[in-house]
Amino acid sequence: MGVGEFAQAVIAYSYATNGSVTSWGRTAKRNSAVGGHPNSWHLNFLAADVVYDVSVPEERARFLAGRHGLRLVREATHDHLQPDVKS
Ligand SMILES: [Zn+2]
Repeated sequence: MGVGEFAQAVIAYSYATNGSVTSWGRTAKRNSAVGGHPNSWHLNFLAADVVYDVSVPEERARFLAGRHGLRLVREATHDHLQPDVKS
């Protein structure tokens, strides 16, 4: 999944969940400052963090993310999205 396709998926996911993107691409400095993983997909604009107007149950969020080819990780303050790469 390229950056353009990822962006389209995040937009579709955000519309479906009333979500707002609070973090997308990051410099290494910024990523380090916010405690991101050293190899974070945020460094390549292939990760986005989303918050919701009204909380979305994790199972529902995971289902919708999967429909758009995204992998969802629920964090304490947001949901993290990145391409769902099959290994
Ligand atoms: Zn993230």
